[in-house]
Amino acid sequence: MKIGVFICHCGSNIAGTVDCVKVAKNAEAFPDVAYSTDNMYMCSEPGQDHIVEMVKKHDLDGVVVASCSPRMHEPTFRRAVERAGLNKYMFEMANIREHVSWIGKDKDANTNKASELVRMAVEKLRRNAPLFSKKFETIKKVLVVGAGVAGIQAALDCADAGLQVVLVEREPAIGGKMAKLDKTFPTVDCSSCILGPKMVDVSQHPNITLYTLSEVEKVSGYVGNFSVNIKRRAPYVDFSKCTGCGACMEKCPAKKTPDRFNEFMGPTTAINIPFPQAIPKKATINPQYCRKLTEGKCGICAKICPTGAINYEMKDEVITEEVGAIVAATGYDLMDWKSNYGEYGGGRYPDVITSLQYERLLSAAGPTGGHILRPSDGREPKKVAFICCVGSRDRSIGRPYCSGFCCMYTAKQAVLTKDHIPDSQSYVFYMDIRAPGKLYDEFTRRAIEEYGTEYIRGRVSAIQPDGKGQYIVRAADTLLGKPVEVAVDLVVLAVGVEGAKGSGKLAETLHISYDNFGFFLESHIKLRPVETNTAGVFLAGSCQGAKDIPSSVAQGSGAAAKVIGLLSKPKLESDPQISNVNIKRCVGCGKCVDVCPFQAITKENIRGEIKAQVIEAVCQGCGLCAATCPQGAIQLSHFTDNQILAEVNALCQC
Ligand code: FAD
Ligand code: SF4
Ligand code: SF4
Repeated sequence: MKIGVFICHCGSNIAGTVDCVKVAKNAEAFPDVAYSTDNMYMCSEPGQDHIVEMVKKHDLDGVVVASCSPRMHEPTFRRAVERAGLNKYMFEMANIREHVSWIGKDKDANTNKASELVRMAVEKLRRNAPLFSKKFETIKKVLVVGAGVAGIQAALDCADAGLQVVLVEREPAIGGKMAKLDKTFPTVDCSSCILGPKMVDVSQHPNITLYTLSEVEKVSGYVGNFSVNIKRRAPYVDFSKCTGCGACMEKCPAKKTPDRFNEFMGPTTAINIPFPQAIPKKATINPQYCRKLTEGKCGICAKICPTGAINYEMKDEVITEEVGAIVAATGYDLMDWKSNYGEYGGGRYPDVITSLQYERLLSAAGPTGGHILRPSDGREPKKVAFICCVGSRDRSIGRPYCSGFCCMYTAKQAVLTKDHIPDSQSYVFYMDIRAPGKLYDEFTRRAIEEYGTEYIRGRVSAIQPDGKGQYIVRAADTLLGKPVEVAVDLVVLAVGVEGAKGSGKLAETLHISYDNFGFFLESHIKLRPVETNTAGVFLAGSCQGAKDIPSSVAQGSGAAAKVIGLLSKPKLESDPQISNVNIKRCVGCGKCVDVCPFQAITKENIRGEIKAQVIEAVCQGCGLCAATCPQGAIQLSHFTDNQILAEVNALCQC
């Protein structure tokens, strides 16, 4: 066998603390190495061309590149090796950047370690054999989970490109948080006026199937061929008959039903259409509050409904859909501020409300018809305090991150307060003003200069009722260096955001990673922001981290572009680096079946004996089964026991 070794300087990234020339020289002595060199940037076009040239010139059988993480450039180098006429799996990579140069400053020690890693890669490559991918068909259909503005955008873009789309939303209507907003920064245009047409497009698009009141329960399969179980809660209304007339809502006697859409700012009825522009504009019954469903009494809506749409016998159902790709767009929820901020009343004061509740007060379709009225006494507030970063950038409660859009919507809400109540005064308590988007800084300035909003820099330490109908907001003004107290009628908390409730469970169902705050993890924070580490699953919008509307829409389109690119290929290639079962050794214990996170192993009866079998297209090559099998009956191609032991031996020889 003839192996070529190529050591990358990565500018000064590697060469700064590793003697790359020496590493290349050392490699010349390793078994089967026929050519060894170093290069300033192996991933550059000249670097790759050099690999191709040397493979041909020295008649090499395999290539080792020592450079950065395989997550960055393994595909790049595999393509170069293939261009040189080799099987692309006759390639190994040693990571001497993240694993060496970036973590140690001692050049001699680093040089030795880099040489050791190269030696190990050479030993592994000596035991590689060419592998061949299989081609498989894909289903030209995509599942989008979550129908906020990001999911809507992704669904529309995919549908416009000719793909079938299944859009799953757990609420009775689509639109997400944007549907709850009154106006949007920085243009202060009406939220439902810009979102409404997109929502209507979803309902009318021939390529989109919408399931509301629905959640994804189970996902099996693999990129291009997923099978998805969607659980749809019973609406108790036949959507094909309901015209959205609202007659049932008027007569329903269960008038103390909590109003989720209005952020619990007032009650609604058990049968309900959440807002006038709702898509679908269909009534649904909340079974927890319906008298017929809880007590067997009432049944008024069925009597009143002119089209006979009410059906109390409806049951939850599970729908199975086959799709080629999945976009997660489940957005965010506000964090639980009440149990973390006792000093702000912890939810005991009726006039200390969240920013989303304030949006509902501002909205003409909200519980007060667009009049800002205090929840406690229905009075118009003249002084309003806005408190930023409640649950954001607060390490004392384990929330170190910025929630991204609160500074901007706080400025917007202060502007709108003045528009609604011209003789009002708004106070914004802030830590820093973060307004980096297009026209954002200008907008904040308007709030201060044109609208007279008073910005006070400092974290609020307490909010207390003064016993005379107002609330005293106490803070330390960090610019003036003295304590400050303001008496106000209403307090609005810009509560920090986290991944949508249940996002951890959904991540596990989709086999993707998530962080401590319920946000899904992208494959690469800079270079692959809409991809996940599970092939065929993409991210859009705030489910990945707080994002305002422009960024959520952009990411929705970005995810759609990835899906369209993936499913436009006539066939996909499987990765052949998968598990193989040696059926002579397998005793059919099934431990591998239990441990496989992708359900890639089944138990089969082979000539009267139970044996494990790997479903090639499903196996992701994670190796859990190989490590678990007590018989050593499973080997992972290119990560066989022999290869790993050869690497360990190589390390021991150094
Ligand atoms: P979301 O709007 O959260 O939508 C996610 C959707 O997924 C929801 O419909 C949810 O029900 C659904 N979902 C969640 N989990 C599941 C599941 N497991 N299964 C099925 N469905 C699920 N941004 C601006 O640019 N301008 C503004 O003026 C502005 N004002 C704001 C004011 C306030 C008070 C707040 C809190 C935010 C504001 N924002 C504003 C930010 C804006 O809300 C977000 O940018 C936007 O909502 C993000 O859209 P999204 O689709 O990613 O998430
Ligand atoms: Fe309301 Fe239920 Fe009575 Fe219908 S049957 S009117 S939803 S309480
Ligand atoms: Fe499942 Fe084994 Fe493949 Fe991992 S390597 S996906 S555990 S079959």
